Amino acid sequence: MERRNFLSAASAGFAASLLAACGGGDPTTSDASPVVDRSRKPQPVVTNNTVKARVIVIGGGMGGATVAKYLRLWGDAISVTLIERMPTYTSNIMSSMVLSGQRSMSSLTYRYDTLRTKYGINTVFGEVVAVDPVGVKVTMADGTVLAADRIVMAPGISFDAVPGLGNSDKMPHAWQAGPQTTLLANQLKAMTAGLNHNVVLTIPKTPYRCPPGPYERACLIADWLRVNKPGSKLIVLDANGDYVTEKDNFSRAFLGIHGNVIEYYTNAEIFEVSPANMSLTTTKGITYYGDVINMIPSQRAGALITTVGLNNETQGRFAGVNVLSYASTVSGADKIHIIGDSSATTQPKAGHIANQEAKVCADAISRILSGGSPDPAPVTNSACYSTITMRQASWLTAAFQYDTATSAMKVVSASSAASPDWNQDNFDEMGTWFKALMADSFA
Ligand SMILES: Cc1cc2nc3c(=O)[nH]c(=O)nc-3n(C[C@H](O)[C@H](O)[C@H](O)COP(=O)(O)OP(=O)(O)OC[C@H]3O[C@@H](n4cnc5c(N)ncnc54)[C@H](O)[C@@H]3O)c2cc1C
Repeated sequence: MERRNFLSAASAGFAASLLAACGGGDPTTSDASPVVDRSRKPQPVVTNNTVKARVIVIGGGMGGATVAKYLRLWGDAISVTLIERMPTYTSNIMSSMVLSGQRSMSSLTYRYDTLRTKYGINTVFGEVVAVDPVGVKVTMADGTVLAADRIVMAPGISFDAVPGLGNSDKMPHAWQAGPQTTLLANQLKAMTAGLNHNVVLTIPKTPYRCPPGPYERACLIADWLRVNKPGSKLIVLDANGDYVTEKDNFSRAFLGIHGNVIEYYTNAEIFEVSPANMSLTTTKGITYYGDVINMIPSQRAGALITTVGLNNETQGRFAGVNVLSYASTVSGADKIHIIGDSSATTQPKAGHIANQEAKVCADAISRILSGGSPDPAPVTNSACYSTITMRQASWLTAAFQYDTATSAMKVVSASSAASPDWNQDNFDEMGTWFKALMADSFA
C-alpha cells in the first residue's frame, strides 16, 4: 500500500475501529487498528555507503519512538539516530493504576532493543543540551556534536516551579511516570485512614498533559480510599472553571458513586504551598491541608524547546508547528520538527496523539527528503479510556482533519464521541488498546 493511503487509512479508520471497539467490538481484529501494516518490512540497515539522509530524533517517548520507527519503515534509506536520556521508557499511560496497586512500574517499562535490532535505529543514551536549528546540529551533555538533515524534537513536558515547594519531595506530581509515581503510591499506602486524614489532588490550568488524566486519577484514588482508607476524603482543587473534558461522566462520578469521598472545587488555582504544614493556599486565599498531596503543577514544553527558543506559542509555553509536517514555525528553524506534548496544536496532549503526530511527521519528512511535499490533508485521531472505578472505565475518542481555512487540525464531529456510561467491558478493552498502542510505538 502506498504510504499516503496507509497513513490515511490508519488514521481515519482507527477512530472508527475504536468507536466499534468501545461499542463492544475487538480493536485487535480490525484491519484499521493502530498496529503496523505487517506487510511492510523494515528496510535493510543503511550503511554509510547507502544512506541518503540523516534524521536525529530527540526524546524516546510516545512521539519520539514512533517517529524513529516510521521514518525507518517509510523513509528512503534514511539513517535515524534516537537520542534519549533514560535507558528505558516508563509509560505515563496507566501509571495512575500504580497508585491503586493495580499495576507495577515494571509492567509500564519499555526497552529500545526492538527499535534498534528490528528497525536499524541508532540509539544514543544521554542528555541533549543544545540544538542549532540553522546548522541542524545537536550537542550532547558530554560535548559530542551530531549533525543531520532534519531533527525531530519530542522532549515531552516540563513543570512550572511551585512557590514554596523548593526541592521537597513531600508533594509529588507523579505526572511523569517514574520515581515520583512510586513515592506517591507509598505515601497513599502509608497514610492514616479516617476523618480529617485526607488526600489533596490539584489540577493545573490547561493546556496540560492528558486532559482527562487528573479526573480519572481522582476517580481511581477515591475508589481506592473508599475500600482501603474508610472515612478519608479526596479534595480535588481544579484551577480551571469546570471539568476540562468528559464532563458528563466525570461529574456524575464525582457527585454520584464518589460523592461521599470527593470534594471538588473549581477555580482553585494554587498560589503557594507549605511542605512543612502539608498545606496549599489558593489564589483566593483559602488554605487546604492533606496527609498526602498530589501537586500537579502547570506545564510547558520540554525544557530543551525553551533553551533552543522554539517556544513561540501559548504565551511562550509550547512550540508552534506547521501541522502538515510539524516543522517549527520559528523563522529559520524549519528543519526542526516538534511533535508530542511539546507542540502547540488543537489536538490534545496525549500519547495516542503523539503517536499520530509522529506518523504524519515521519511521512512528511520522508517526502521532503525525497524531493516532495507533505501530504496536504493529514488525518489523526485520539482515543482515551478513563478509569471511573478500579474495575470500570469510560472512553472518549476524537478524529481530526487538516482545515485549510485555519491551517489547523479540526475535530471531525461525526467521528468523535464519548461513552454514555462506564463499565467493565470498557476497562478490559482499555488493556487491549494500551497494548496495541505501545506495540505500535516500541515493537
Ligand atoms: C497519569 C497519566 C495518564 C495518561 N494517560 C493517557 C492515556 O490514557 N492516553 C493517552 O493517549 N495519553 C495519556 N497520557 C499522556 C501521555 O503520556 C503523553 O501525552 C505522552 O507521553 C506524550 O509523548 P511525548 O513523546 O511528547 O513525551 P514523553 O512520552 O514524555 O517522552 C519524552 C521523552 O523525551 C526525553 N527527553 C526529554 N528531554 C530530553 C533531552 N534533553 N535529552 C534526551 N532526552 C530527553 C524524556 O526522557 C522522555 O523519554 C497520560 C499521562 C499521564 C501523566
